[in-house]
Amino acid sequence: MSLFPALHTESSGTALRFGERSLNYGELAAAAGRTAGGIGHAARVAVWATPTLETAVAVVGALLAGVPVVPLNPRSGERELAHILADSAPSAVLAEPEAELPEALTGIPRLDVDVAGDAEEEPGGTAPGGWVLATEPNPESAAFIVYTSGTTGPPKGVVLSRRAVASTLDALEDAWQWTADDVVVHALPLFHVHGLILGVLGPLRRGGSLHHLGRFSPEGVTGALTGGGTVLFGVPTMYHRLAEALGSQPALVQALSGARLLVSGSAPLPLEDHRRITEATGRHVVERYGMTETLMNTSVRADGEPRPGTVGVPLRDVDLRLVDDAGQRIEGGTEAAEAVGEVQVRGPNLFTEYLNRPDATAAAFDGGWFRTGDMATRDADGYVRLVGRKATDLIKSGGYKIGAGEIENVLLTHPGVAEAAVTAGPDPDLGEQVVAWIVPADAAHPPQQEELAEYVAGQLAPHKRPRTVHLRASLPRNDMGKILKRELAPQDGQEPQTAE
Ligand code: ATP
Ligand code: MG
Repeated sequence: MSLFPALHTESSGTALRFGERSLNYGELAAAAGRTAGGIGHAARVAVWATPTLETAVAVVGALLAGVPVVPLNPRSGERELAHILADSAPSAVLAEPEAELPEALTGIPRLDVDVAGDAEEEPGGTAPGGWVLATEPNPESAAFIVYTSGTTGPPKGVVLSRRAVASTLDALEDAWQWTADDVVVHALPLFHVHGLILGVLGPLRRGGSLHHLGRFSPEGVTGALTGGGTVLFGVPTMYHRLAEALGSQPALVQALSGARLLVSGSAPLPLEDHRRITEATGRHVVERYGMTETLMNTSVRADGEPRPGTVGVPLRDVDLRLVDDAGQRIEGGTEAAEAVGEVQVRGPNLFTEYLNRPDATAAAFDGGWFRTGDMATRDADGYVRLVGRKATDLIKSGGYKIGAGEIENVLLTHPGVAEAAVTAGPDPDLGEQVVAWIVPADAAHPPQQEELAEYVAGQLAPHKRPRTVHLRASLPRNDMGKILKRELAPQDGQEPQTAE
């Protein structure tokens, strides 16, 4: 099972483009082959995952060598880095030659990634760089150890096999109907599943190409899509910025209208942003749902009916079930369409284990089913609607279970609201109450409590209306734009506005 069949074809098509620098398949094979030779038989390597050609070459090289990769977030603090390095114990760190590595990495041998190579030594490049593996690595062996985003707690090292990676990429190819002509455009970080495994390895596995923007901007997206890009990957904060720019950038409207696929994932896409994009461009955003532990679970299909607010249907080979609090499976169907349960998945896309954490690994499974910790409903056609995370997004108030996402979506349609998050707060009568955190569109004129109360009253049942509203200048988010709800707490000196 070769992960990159196209690497062996000596194709002259573009494989990778980062800003102005690019490599065709022959050049990538040569560069990755050299890197593989440098890595040799290391047990495990870390990659200093800047958004550069070097990172992509380092990862492909390590996979060619059959050596597991630990991608490092260059923006991690020293403490987080120290935790990840102590946990994963890489035998070397691969980095671009210019990178200045922080103190936490001293003591780990460094391998500089040489993308260009010595032209005299390798006229024309050889495929793959003279590096020939005696045998393909065992599909069950680790391809990656990826640390989770740390949204709900300290990041966990997730061991992903070559089989899991290949199966998720192939299932997405089926759902999105990728071809070798596709050019994926994105500006995602390269240390998580979304940007790295889907965003770099996805196009390479198929023989297509990646155009990485380095830094996200609506203008950059316009340029890349106009210049041949066919598929855009992004997280909701990026689609929000695109939605905001549509009014003043007709070229962006045209570029998005002409793309084959606009894909969003990693966090909930607010309905309001989806609506604005569709209204201006005539295109739907395809939402997909995955996690570090499972790679991809569901997606709206390229040939399927879009259903805004859902993350589509389970991918080929993925079994998905919803389980209620009593441990009972919720069957799909019209009557059950409103029943909320925890998403559990099973399939070849699943991770092998949490590194060094056998207890956490055991606790994450129910038989062969992985407990995602995400709560959802499912309609009669199998479309999954995520309502939030069990840990942070489910509010248990007066006997009701309320998903934060539905309320956030309503708040975000108010013109005075730029960003919104909903959490559970303590309530002496109800157990928990709905608490809203709002970033006003205009800080000088924040929406008034009464006005918001009246607005949501027209759209939400009484038990779903926020009882308390906090105003904030910004919401805490991580690198993927995920709101860190565990960091939301009333700040000293800032009194909440309280309804009723
Ligand atoms: P940690 O596990 O460390 O708390 P994390 O769960 O955020 O962090 P990831 O594995 O990167 O780390 O993220 C997976 C989670 O992201 C999913 O469990 C789900 O809650 C959320 N998610 C992914 N895609 C979507 C989507 N399309 N809509 C809503 N939520 C999504
Ligand atoms: Mg998680």
